[in-house]
Amino acid sequence: MITADDVRLVVGNLEITHDSMFMIIGRLVIYIAIIIIMAVMVTAIIALYMFNTRHMFFPKFTLLLITAFEGGVKAFFNFLRLDVSTVDRLNIDLRNIVDYDNYISTGYSERGAFLPQCLRSVECPAPTTPEGGIICKGCGKCEIKNAKAFCEELGYKVFAVAPGGTFVTRMMKKYEPTAAIGVACVGDSKSFLEVCEAMQVYGQAVILLKDGCVNTVANWDIFYKLVAMKKE
Ligand code: SF4
Repeated sequence: MITADDVRLVVGNLEITHDSMFMIIGRLVIYIAIIIIMAVMVTAIIALYMFNTRHMFFPKFTLLLITAFEGGVKAFFNFLRLDVSTVDRLNIDLRNIVDYDNYISTGYSERGAFLPQCLRSVECPAPTTPEGGIICKGCGKCEIKNAKAFCEELGYKVFAVAPGGTFVTRMMKKYEPTAAIGVACVGDSKSFLEVCEAMQVYGQAVILLKDGCVNTVANWDIFYKLVAMKKE
């Protein structure tokens, strides 16, 4: 019968028994766990620093860190009773920074603009269609009328008021813009930029000042600035 002591590996001059192999693996697991915990803590501190000082350094690398350790960083924030949405907000800021130059270098005719349906007036008379989303009738009861006219005047490839998240992906596939701007709540802004990344579209997201299901408020100043922003 083979006992644990009989199971041994000989590597060079080193003799590794069954028990010592478990010890090595155990230590490795502990070291890896310590490295991950340290990386999460460092990323969380960087995230806090950046968010509070607005000093964004190495945006691509930091975005990579925040994306890789997102779950851990959010858990760390939770543990410290900090606002977890800070992590997503920073993620959005960094993605905006990373894509900004390519976005403003893209001609208006290759850009798309997407607004959420929650920005509409509660008395909105616009019909919802599966192909075009909510078709603004320009009644003037909300700012969407002006936003649409502004984008159309500049020659935007697509302007749409989205009834839902998957609608934006469908429109992106249909019109294939090179760059796109989206207005949404924190969660949907992040999803919008992730869709942009997956579809190789240079994205800019503008987070709602007040979110919810109805009567939301957009940061129109930033929206119009970004819509019109162009590299000469
Ligand atoms: S301006 Fe357009 S989106 Fe706004 S309420 Fe009127 S029809 Fe609806």
